[in-house]
Amino acid sequence: MAEIAEVIVDVKARQVNRPFDYLIPPEYSDTIALGSRVIVPFGPRKVQGFVVRLKAQSEKEQTLKEILYPMDSEPSLSEELIQLGRFMADHYFAFMTQCYETMLPNALKSSYDRVFEWHNEPVKELNIHLPMTWQDAQQTNSLKTLLALKKDNKVLLTTIVKDKKTVKTETLVTRSLKRSQYKDIFESLRPNAKKQRELVMALSLQTAKTITKEALLKNYPILTQADLKSGEEKDWLTISKREVSRMKPIESDHLTRPLVLSNEQQEAYNRVLPTIEHNEHRVFLLEGVTGSGKTELYLQWIQEVLKKGKTALMLVPEIALTPQMTARFQSRFGKKVAVLHSGLSKGERFDEWRKIKRKEATVVVGARSAVFAPLDYIGIIILDEEHESSYQQSEVPHYHARDIAIRRGQYHDAPVILGSATPSLESRARAQKKVYDLLQLKHRPTKQSLPEVHLVDMRDALLDSEGHFSQPLLKAIKDRLKKEEQTVLLLNRRGFSSYIMCRSCGHVPMCPNCDISLTLHLDDHSLKCHYCGHQEPVQKVCPQCGSHDMRYVGSGTQQIERELKQLIPDIRVTRMDWDTTRKKNQHQHLLEEFADHRTDVLLGTQMIAKGLDYPNVTLVGVINADTGLYLPDFRAFEKTFQLLTQVSGRAGRGDKPGDVYIQTYDPSFYAIRLAKNQDYETFYEREMQLRYRGKYPPFYYTTLLSISAPLEQEALRVSYRLKAQIEKHISEDMILLGPSPKSIARINNRYYFQILLKYKKIDCIEGVLKKIVSDTQAKNKQDVYVKVEREPQNFM
Ligand code: ADP
Ligand code: ZN
Ligand code: ZN
Repeated sequence: MAEIAEVIVDVKARQVNRPFDYLIPPEYSDTIALGSRVIVPFGPRKVQGFVVRLKAQSEKEQTLKEILYPMDSEPSLSEELIQLGRFMADHYFAFMTQCYETMLPNALKSSYDRVFEWHNEPVKELNIHLPMTWQDAQQTNSLKTLLALKKDNKVLLTTIVKDKKTVKTETLVTRSLKRSQYKDIFESLRPNAKKQRELVMALSLQTAKTITKEALLKNYPILTQADLKSGEEKDWLTISKREVSRMKPIESDHLTRPLVLSNEQQEAYNRVLPTIEHNEHRVFLLEGVTGSGKTELYLQWIQEVLKKGKTALMLVPEIALTPQMTARFQSRFGKKVAVLHSGLSKGERFDEWRKIKRKEATVVVGARSAVFAPLDYIGIIILDEEHESSYQQSEVPHYHARDIAIRRGQYHDAPVILGSATPSLESRARAQKKVYDLLQLKHRPTKQSLPEVHLVDMRDALLDSEGHFSQPLLKAIKDRLKKEEQTVLLLNRRGFSSYIMCRSCGHVPMCPNCDISLTLHLDDHSLKCHYCGHQEPVQKVCPQCGSHDMRYVGSGTQQIERELKQLIPDIRVTRMDWDTTRKKNQHQHLLEEFADHRTDVLLGTQMIAKGLDYPNVTLVGVINADTGLYLPDFRAFEKTFQLLTQVSGRAGRGDKPGDVYIQTYDPSFYAIRLAKNQDYETFYEREMQLRYRGKYPPFYYTTLLSISAPLEQEALRVSYRLKAQIEKHISEDMILLGPSPKSIARINNRYYFQILLKYKKIDCIEGVLKKIVSDTQAKNKQDVYVKVEREPQNFM
């Protein structure tokens, strides 16, 4: 019998980043298991912990403390996830407790309350009732008194762990007698016992034996909770509770059937099939032009996996933006599908997570963090749009879902499919070296050819363009309007924003906390900082020179919308951007509006480029193709190419042909020219040469250190110290760049510097990087903070 548990405690410090031994109290010996969340005493505190090993004896000499209690009746983590957390902590320079927390739904994340308790005897004359939380003490004006009592040692301030998980239930009412018996009861009741007669009547009329309380009270409004209670006392009925999901049930009457695959699809399908059949781990890169039937293949592979009694994990970049993808999976697999994404509430996510744990769902469709879905017996893992940078988490641990997916695929002996029309160079290069198997789809399986892409040279078109719209694009939009077809308009916003500037002296209002100009928001006439949230009214008078000539510069979606409505007065526009999509479910509503053809144009930023599949869209316009090209990021060309290819793929997906107009100042530039024909392979070759010369991925690995502090001098001093520390361990083929200020040097009153490491093998510096991370964990805002990221996707 195991009596000792090794526990990872929720304390983020280097000395504590290892398991501690605790005794399992006998009364919990059946409940506490491998992967359980528990509360343990740690120094003076009570903290949350994860049981990562069970054993009969401790190697420790001293007497062990006992676990206080378990937090759940079932363990939250499987053995596989415990192992995975260990790997993540090591690989991504994080603490184990952070990795385990990342794997669980938010409802299970620990949070702490500070609580006042009497030390020994209560001080009665004060008339204060303890325990009381810090917050309550503040609100009832007792905080000062309590802190004074604490000084005198009369009161203790302790920490308790709050549990946020809640299970939603519904109340059921069940008949306890035969239906016919209620007739006699009814007769025996006095005529003025109105409510009782109504209740008995209700019970006898109900065809089903059990009904929800909600429905019963709704059908018989004169009844109340109290009437049901008295009915229960008279043994007419029983009241019980049942767990329910917060998610709307899926309608699965008409499931879609698999399509007959094209030859190209069939060939790709057949190459993966044996790995499903023989439980073989292999990574496939499925490179297929937009609309080539990748999703249909995913569905059919998953079907095969389900037939074998196994489960499937399907990852998409940001599922809140792609309700269509979810719908396709639900309409093929019905109730077997669980969905996990950021558009759900905490409670909904928790419900879906438990549905997976209970094995009611065998197909999980979700965004990044769904890669930790608690599935057993995984038979296939698929990452759609594998090149998307949203697969990397920007908070600690900075994991990449692709790495985790492959790890899990290895554990389960399951194939992993990476799908994209524009694979990341890293993945494509691995396929080149035969580390991954390459599957290619070059055609659309439908009769549709790829849309015709026109590059509009804005240097020529400028003369007669109206605002942001060139004549050819404008003409095309008007033409669609006439034919009652729809248009998608992309405003490429990477590194682009709208701001105001003084025409007399050139002054641009900047954020007081960050080194960035404030963005103009027309809807509430305010200037906002998109980094720290600072907000102020639009200035009419220049604070620098007093001029009244403050003008708007740049292009935001709101300006484009206004221009378009001036050019074509009766055009109906759905605008999707930072402003219109902040509220929950807003994406979905806007997309539905467009899908139902209540509007003619879908105008938006990057978020509209992916995954949309509307047959009535026959035109895509890109307002400004070039803006992302010259950002300080070695992936700038790759990201531009990907964006243009993706958005072009939105046109002509039904049976009407599609056109794409890309407005650019540099039509001959290869990233733009090659996107015209969705020529990924040529782009790959060109881009690889650049990367080779610049010693960038995929030829080199990269790790980025970001150093920040409230004082610029301090951040810089630490950056140089770290540089010196790393240089001691550096090997021949390693390159260290920096420290240099980040492209936005100050955010929220912290100064940022970065050091970039490029290398072929990380071995010699892994140790020193780990030490740096654990030495510089900021405890409060004044401290220097160092973030270490492997293969960073974002350099801004
Ligand atoms: P992708 O995921 O590569 O963008 P999809 O799987 O969404 O491609 O397929 C694009 C369109 O082609 C969809 O409307 C889909 O239903 C259709 N399609 C896919 N495979 C076939 C096939 N074998 N036969 C007919 N239509 C197909
Ligand atoms: Zn001025
Ligand atoms: Zn700011």
